[in-house]
Amino acid sequence: MTPVHERFLSHVKIEGECWIWQAATNNGHGIFNVAGRSKLARRVSWEMFGRELKAGIRLTTTCGSQLCVNPKHIIETTYKEMGEKMSQLPLKTHCKRGHAFEKHGVVWKTKTGSKRQCGLCNKLRQGADGTSPHMGNIY
Ligand SMILES: [Zn+2]
Ligand SMILES: [Zn+2]
Repeated sequence: MTPVHERFLSHVKIEGECWIWQAATNNGHGIFNVAGRSKLARRVSWEMFGRELKAGIRLTTTCGSQLCVNPKHIIETTYKEMGEKMSQLPLKTHCKRGHAFEKHGVVWKTKTGSKRQCGLCNKLRQGADGTSPHMGNIY
């Protein structure tokens, strides 16, 4: 652990499995200053945990939070793939209880607009029939 790493981690707040960036942001992405240069926080995390940044590769998160810098949630993608997806949909396929999104659908949490919730978990929370009028936007 170097002083830079310690400084980096001091800006991180652990929320569940996510490491949420608390310091500067740019367009919703975490920014960290290293030797006078600002870098994307998740790129710093990527390198910090011993992975290589290749040219033309963009890093994105699987959990859907742009501010998450948990190296386990960071994956490589190409700009082309990003363009094809055209959305910020996280790449997760199952909720934390292991329900497949494909099977149960997904409910958007409208508060943030960027968080998905498992359709089944949402249903279970709402009661047996799950016929809430807010059940729209099934993925
Ligand atoms: Zn995360
Ligand atoms: Zn679930």
